[in-house]
Amino acid sequence: MEIPKEVKSVTEKLKKAGFEAYIVGGCVRDFLRGVEPKDWDATTNAKPEEIRKVFPKSFYENKFLTVTVQTASKDEKLKEVEVTTYRSEGGYTDKRHPDEVMFAKTLEEDLTRRDFTINAMALTPGVKASTPGVVDLFGGQKDLAAKIIRTVGVPEERFGEDALRMMRAVRFAATLGEKWKIESKTEEAIKKNAPWLQAISKERIRDEFMKIIASERAVDGIDLLRKLGLLKHIIPELEEGYGVPQNKHHIYDCYKHSLLSMDYAAKKGFNDHVKIAALLHDIAKPKVKRGEGPDSTFYNHEVVGARMTVAILNRLKFAKKDIEKIAKLVRYHLFYYNVDEVTESSVRRLVRQVGPESMEELLQVRMADRIGSGVPKAEPYKLRHLKYVIEKVSRDPISAKMLKINGDDIMRHLNISPGPKIGQILDILLGHVINDPEKNQKELLAKEVDMLGRLDEKELKVFSQKAQEERENLEVKEDKMTKNKYWVT
Ligand code: ATP
Ligand code: MG
Repeated sequence: MEIPKEVKSVTEKLKKAGFEAYIVGGCVRDFLRGVEPKDWDATTNAKPEEIRKVFPKSFYENKFLTVTVQTASKDEKLKEVEVTTYRSEGGYTDKRHPDEVMFAKTLEEDLTRRDFTINAMALTPGVKASTPGVVDLFGGQKDLAAKIIRTVGVPEERFGEDALRMMRAVRFAATLGEKWKIESKTEEAIKKNAPWLQAISKERIRDEFMKIIASERAVDGIDLLRKLGLLKHIIPELEEGYGVPQNKHHIYDCYKHSLLSMDYAAKKGFNDHVKIAALLHDIAKPKVKRGEGPDSTFYNHEVVGARMTVAILNRLKFAKKDIEKIAKLVRYHLFYYNVDEVTESSVRRLVRQVGPESMEELLQVRMADRIGSGVPKAEPYKLRHLKYVIEKVSRDPISAKMLKINGDDIMRHLNISPGPKIGQILDILLGHVINDPEKNQKELLAKEVDMLGRLDEKELKVFSQKAQEERENLEVKEDKMTKNKYWVT
């Protein structure tokens, strides 16, 4: 892998203008381990105004001393390079943010305020592109090779400055890859001080949680949060299912079942809504459980669970539309779908309750639920059949409502009163429009109405019957196509 020329050009321009400049942070970590960075950051001793002078195409939001430099690249990852002035952080009094952010004079100071050794390295692209020089003051390369997350400096002090770093440690351990471990002193400090997380804003916790969720290894992250005592300060309700056995239909406890469901969703690449719904779909089970042993019950857990989901996601400051969507998936995850027993009207009701746009996600949650309970097969035939019925009942019925003209228009136009003639004319118009949707325009249809108005009763009846027959044929044909699509006979 090479350092992209757009990034190199940023540090070179700064150097030409007489400043120091390095590539820094997460992108150096990813570059050195051979993974393409999501974005590239640079650091410099130039002050924000000085950076802006070097790059006319840049903007400064006065946030954390960062200037965003725009490049000419078409690649999303390279369109912008963030350039941040060397900084250090002032005192910390509340475990959440520095009382002030200050300019620093040296690269060393800037690297020292960063969280983990692997995130605290800087890169000079150097004269030759092939020999980038790494500034590594804290053993980041060694930890990168050994796959170790270790704080820069004394762990307890660093977590005391910003408690979110404890969650970040878990995030990196889970997302970087399989063998990654948190170094033992760093880990001990997290276990000891996990309650400090309470000082952190819910928004920052949510963002970090979502980064864990985004990973294919989301479940390792969540279980590590639990082991280190952090989960109870994020979603305590989830931890309450730990060690709560279910009934004869399940081999796993509530917590493990939730994680395995989500694991399936994560490995399948389902979206965040589905992943979170899979994680929370049984969240109420510990609360509504009645009885013990193989015959215990969990009545109403989907209803109580939807309510709890709303409360949890509200607490974590999720957006209203995300909360509504996820709660709905939890609320309806128990839908019934035995091929012989399920009626079209019950599927129609489900589609109405959940919304046609959410049906696919609901099916995904259901699959995740099944796989997560240790049941090996995902019941392909039953699911295909259900999808067929869903599509069938979701399809717009072919009806005169589709027309740009209605019965009232026709009566007014022909100056006639209500009677069978109106319905016949609508039937014929509908036939035209089905054959040629372009004809569905008010003026064109009005002209047709004029013509049809001149026909006698008999002629009109023949035409309308023919239109009706054609429409029925079309419905049969469409149904056959849908059946083929889902291999349902
Ligand atoms: P990602 O690949 O998710 O972007 P990243 O390492 O780039 O990971 P960012 O949150 O983008 O993470 O932060 C960029 C860099 O800023 C980090 O690599 C680290 O050096 C520093 N940093 C970020 N957050 C903190 C923090 N809370 N405390 C100390 N340093 C931090
Ligand atoms: Mg980053």
